[in-house]
Amino acid sequence: MENHRDLEKIKKMLLEEKHRILNKLQRNKEEEKNNRDRQAVGDDVDQAVALEEENLRSALSAMEVQRLRAIESALQRIEEGTYGYCEECGEPIEEGRLMAKPFAVLCVRCKEEKERKRF
Ligand SMILES: [Zn+2]
Repeated sequence: MENHRDLEKIKKMLLEEKHRILNKLQRNKEEEKNNRDRQAVGDDVDQAVALEEENLRSALSAMEVQRLRAIESALQRIEEGTYGYCEECGEPIEEGRLMAKPFAVLCVRCKEEKERKRF
């Protein structure tokens, strides 16, 4: 990406998203702890509900962690100056796509290609 101003904007977006996720993960951890306290005193129904909540939360956390990694790697690519280029074909990724999904590593064409192969 040649446009310096846009890159700064994207970097800001990435950092904000990173903080949002870190906060969320932190909150999850606290809730998990409260949940465990509740389980210790609750009855069977409470425990079943708590367990279900915990499963849901850990599935969500896994997604958030994955997103966090994508953000970290995008930030690293910005530092290295390789950000904004497709991992597959090396072509610049469409600017609109980066704005919508700042941690995209594939251009639209390669992404579609990949999705086609999956089915
Ligand atoms: Zn590509």
